[in-house]
Amino acid sequence: MRYAMAIDTRKCVGCADCVVACQTENNVPMGYARDWIVESVSGTYPKLELEIRSERCNHCEDAPCVRCCPTGASHIVEGGIVLVEHDKCIGCGACIEACPYDARYPHPDGYVDKCTFCVHRVEKGENPACVEVCPTHCLHFGDLDDPNSDVSKVVAERKWKVLAPEAGTKPQLYFLL
Ligand code: SF4
Ligand code: SF4
Ligand code: SF4
Repeated sequence: MRYAMAIDTRKCVGCADCVVACQTENNVPMGYARDWIVESVSGTYPKLELEIRSERCNHCEDAPCVRCCPTGASHIVEGGIVLVEHDKCIGCGACIEACPYDARYPHPDGYVDKCTFCVHRVEKGENPACVEVCPTHCLHFGDLDDPNSDVSKVVAERKWKVLAPEAGTKPQLYFLL
């Protein structure tokens, strides 16, 4: 099993419903976020292209945040989901430094927090909160090892890219182009 998310950059309108849903579902404190919207413009005037991306932790297969954690708080569970065990985290911030995607934040309660792929929902057979609420259905989540999953189908059918592949972390967010 290999959980992954595909984000359709052609359908995302940047409404940030995913950000609000995540904050509510996961009690993310005010001023912090587990997911965020990036608008990037490329090309030269008048041929400009706007890409809107809903970003979060990439649940990297080769995760530097896990390798550098001195207490084992950052770990990988079944399906490749990268989690932080709050009780084990000493808040040293090594993982924040190590993440090439800036996906982690220091929680005011003293531990480091980030996207969990809503594992508490996934375990019940539900989609992550952000996927559930997206009004344009631009987020696809599922098991990449299952060829019939929603995420496998879109990744097989569409062109995609991962962010910062040069970091060598084998990220599991696929941005559909
Ligand atoms: Fe770790 Fe950052 Fe990769 Fe998430 S995106 S698994 S926090 S290195
Ligand atoms: Fe590990 Fe917590 Fe330190 Fe991050 S802040 S490296 S999770 S102990
Ligand atoms: Fe937030 Fe869950 Fe979406 Fe991750 S999968 S960004 S924790 S709502």
